[in-house]
Amino acid sequence: MTMPKKTHTKLHYCDLNACEGICCSDGAFLLPEEEDLIHQVVARHPEHFTHLPKNYIFDGEWEGNTGRKTAVYPFSYKNKPDHFANTRCAFSEQDGKCSLQTLAVKLDKHKWHYKPMGCWLFPLSSDDKGLVSPPRTRREDPNNLGTRYPGFATFTPCGKHDAKGKVWWIQLKEEVAEYRRADVS
Ligand code: SF4
Repeated sequence: MTMPKKTHTKLHYCDLNACEGICCSDGAFLLPEEEDLIHQVVARHPEHFTHLPKNYIFDGEWEGNTGRKTAVYPFSYKNKPDHFANTRCAFSEQDGKCSLQTLAVKLDKHKWHYKPMGCWLFPLSSDDKGLVSPPRTRREDPNNLGTRYPGFATFTPCGKHDAKGKVWWIQLKEEVAEYRRADVS
């Protein structure tokens, strides 16, 4: 008997000039330890975070789920899915780079040292069993809520399946290695 061949998500890697950092449009939900680390690093390096509003982390909500979340500021994307907001995470710099990452690089630390895990893992995610592969179809997109909000990762340039891309565990080998190194499963 011939077994059906499992098809895997294939991806292109992030090109910030093309995507304008659209994956940061909603900001990021934070784990308690991530919020603590961010407050510490902002207090220690105020000169790097002059672009932040006073309340740069607040009580957020998404489809009935609540949690601490980074604030956003208005931003007009040249090209975005209709259901995405014209906003950007407060930590985004004008060119779309994450200021938590640019500081880490400046301080000669690992580039994701201060960055929330959900951000550096994207379009991967994780649950209590470990890494969750990026959705291949919009139907598999965990944020597909129907016509009013048909998905998130599958609408981003680095998260949408493309048969011409590389299979996700090769394209995202740095993320997979860091996840394993940090032993966050
Ligand atoms: S914390 Fe950084 S990577 Fe995460 S959403 Fe904000 S700007 Fe983007």
